Amino acid sequence: MAAGSNPASKGQPGCVRAALFGLCPACGARTLWEAPAAFAPACRACGTAFALHEPRGRGLFLVVLPLTVLLVLAALKLDEALRPPLWVQGLLWITLVPLLVTAALRLAKTCALMRALARSDRP
Ligand SMILES: [Zn+2]
Repeated sequence: MAAGSNPASKGQPGCVRAALFGLCPACGARTLWEAPAAFAPACRACGTAFALHEPRGRGLFLVVLPLTVLLVLAALKLDEALRPPLWVQGLLWITLVPLLVTAALRLAKTCALMRALARSDRP
C-alpha cells in the first residue's frame, strides 16, 4: 500500500504541511515545535509523544551536510555572476542560511517522526 493511502492516515497532515505549520501528525493541532528546530515533548492536544521519536546526532548530518555544500556553491556562483558588495553577501547569507537549515531540519525531523509513528501503529 502506498504511503498516504492508508485509511487510518486519512485527514492527517502530510509531511511538508506538518513541518511547515507545526501540526501534530496524529491530531493536526499546532503543537509540534517548541523551538525553531526542536520538537515539543508531547502534543498538548492529544498527548502523542514527539520527543521519544526526535532524530538527533549523526543522522541529521545527512540533511545538513548536503545543504551546506549547496549553500557554499550558491554563494560562490552568486559572487562569480553578480559580484555583489561584501555587505550584501553578508546580509543575504546571514539571513538565508539559518532559515534554510531550520526549514530542512524541520522537514527531515517531521518526516522521520511520521515514519516512526506509522511504524509504532502497526500491529
Ligand atoms: Zn496531537
